[in-house]
Amino acid sequence: MSLHIENEAARCLNCKVPQCQKGCPIHTPIPQIIGLFKEQKIMEAGKLLYENNPLSYICATVCDHGSQCYGHCVLGKKGTPVQFFEIEKFISDTYLARMTYDRKPSTGKSVGVIGCGPAGMTAAIVLARNGYDVTIFESKDMIGGMTQYGIPEFRLGHPVFVRYKKLLLSLGIRVRPNTTIGGALKIEDLFRDGYAAIFVGTGAWRPRTLNIQGESLAHVHYGISYLENPSHHDLGAHVVIIGMGNVAMDVARTAFRGGAQTVTLVSNSLHATASEHEMDYTRLDGAEFVYGKSVTRITEEGPLFRSVIFNDEGEAVGFEDDETLMPATSVVIAVSQMPKDKLIQSTYHLEGNDKGLLVVDDNYMTTREGVFAAGDVVTGPKTVVHAVDGAKKAAEAIMRYIEQNG
Ligand SMILES: Cc1cc2nc3c(=O)[nH]c(=O)nc-3n(C[C@H](O)[C@H](O)[C@H](O)COP(=O)(O)OP(=O)(O)OC[C@H]3O[C@@H](n4cnc5c(N)ncnc54)[C@H](O)[C@@H]3O)c2cc1C
Ligand code: SF4
Repeated sequence: MSLHIENEAARCLNCKVPQCQKGCPIHTPIPQIIGLFKEQKIMEAGKLLYENNPLSYICATVCDHGSQCYGHCVLGKKGTPVQFFEIEKFISDTYLARMTYDRKPSTGKSVGVIGCGPAGMTAAIVLARNGYDVTIFESKDMIGGMTQYGIPEFRLGHPVFVRYKKLLLSLGIRVRPNTTIGGALKIEDLFRDGYAAIFVGTGAWRPRTLNIQGESLAHVHYGISYLENPSHHDLGAHVVIIGMGNVAMDVARTAFRGGAQTVTLVSNSLHATASEHEMDYTRLDGAEFVYGKSVTRITEEGPLFRSVIFNDEGEAVGFEDDETLMPATSVVIAVSQMPKDKLIQSTYHLEGNDKGLLVVDDNYMTTREGVFAAGDVVTGPKTVVHAVDGAKKAAEAIMRYIEQNG
């Protein structure tokens, strides 16, 4: 392993205009990190990584590198790109256990953070480092959001969250678990109790439904509900998954690890939305992919599909008259997620768009003065690195807002 990442680092050309860095949504200073790594300055490299991205380890592990740093590396034009993410993973793993963040003197101001996923954790870290007292309110009992409750353990080991919890506490950040804002406590209560601003990073936790007959049967589940606690579900031997995005891939791979004999993923289009990397692994696990089939209803025996008719451009233009049963012991629907509407319903002036996403201005402020938001609750289901990037910018905007408003 160590030899491999050293070889990778040695291949880097230290480009003047590093395309890898351009391709990274959070612009990790890749050549600089590789330079420090080559000089064996691991702690310096780690510091630089975590200054730029507090979730460096998680991103190194789960980002879609093929479309980001790796996919943009100039060496990929004629050969094999540098696997920077393996170098980042090594450094950020080593550094995370030993790191301390410095913290500015207290501003005497406090900020409430709703949600402890990537966006909430990032905003909290940035604000705490700048001298703000931060309290995080989290619905679940553990931190991490979808990285803890969605991404399967075999892709991102859970011990990392113990280290992140320690990091949050070391910065004086307080976490109130099992506390849903918009339930007993509302945003107005937080303002009443003196929080100068509020950051919302509540993600997208409502599964999109198909609105078809049979969706409420006992052997039908939603992808994120299943992934939240797979061992509580008994999917049986033959699983059919409706949807072909990244969540569907995680459902398939988890189902195999739970004992499923066959897993079939069905898409109503001619393409999958999952990344190539995730699909490759799902295929290797033994899943089958079926394209161009639209589910009509679900019965106790399994879902029924009709064939979609496509034109030459691959656009769906109609359906065949057929209706075929795909026998299944369970059916998992994984066709995307949207935010829950608890906060919008319970907060005066907080508005969402037609997709239920919070509306924000250029400064990440929602339609409710003093309430800021970033991550999936604003963008819709996206990625960890995009949530981190948005939350960093929102935290900066919060600090400007508090400075201007006293
Ligand atoms: C199965 C699955 C696999 C994925 N795989 C990848 C991957 O490989 N790579 C990648 O980059 N991204 C992946 N993602 C996407 C990534 O996890 C999300 O984009 C990211 O976690 C979004 O961060 P967030 O902080 O905006 O929201 P979340 O991670 O959803 O966190 C929101 C937090 O807010 C809490 N919350 C919600 N409402 C309230 C409330 N009212 N009060 C208090 N707390 C509340 C939730 O409990 C949660 O902890 C995956 C997502 C899923 C579902
Ligand atoms: S593009 Fe590739 S070779 Fe160039 S600096 Fe980035 S990792 Fe190194």
